[in-house]
Amino acid sequence: MVEANQKNSEAREAQEAAGSDIRDTDIVFDCPHCGKSLVIDYRGAGLQIDCSSCGASVLVPIPDGMELTDLDLDSGEILKQLFATRRNYQKAELVIQDLKTRLNQLKEALAAMQAVVSEGLGQS
Ligand SMILES: [Zn+2]
Repeated sequence: MVEANQKNSEAREAQEAAGSDIRDTDIVFDCPHCGKSLVIDYRGAGLQIDCSSCGASVLVPIPDGMELTDLDLDSGEILKQLFATRRNYQKAELVIQDLKTRLNQLKEALAAMQAVVSEGLGQS
């Protein structure tokens, strides 16, 4: 019961952060990254959002029995999702850049090690 109460208060926090009331149709789920309880309008089902707590991209679960074709997003909603998708895309691009830099560093380190090894072999 205590846990349930805590979940409710977390849901309220998420609701306050979102600035809207929880409705029966809203989807309530936990962020897989930080465990924060998130509340989103049912029309967000199956979409990616930024966690209001840790900022990670999370996939909104699709409630049982819900057909995605039931969703008719208005243009404002679609635009909001487009912006969120673009933000996530930019974040992914940054991660790719970081990984490329790291890969080059590793390649350089590998080349240096190979040089040492072949020098060692040459001397013996
Ligand atoms: Zn989170």
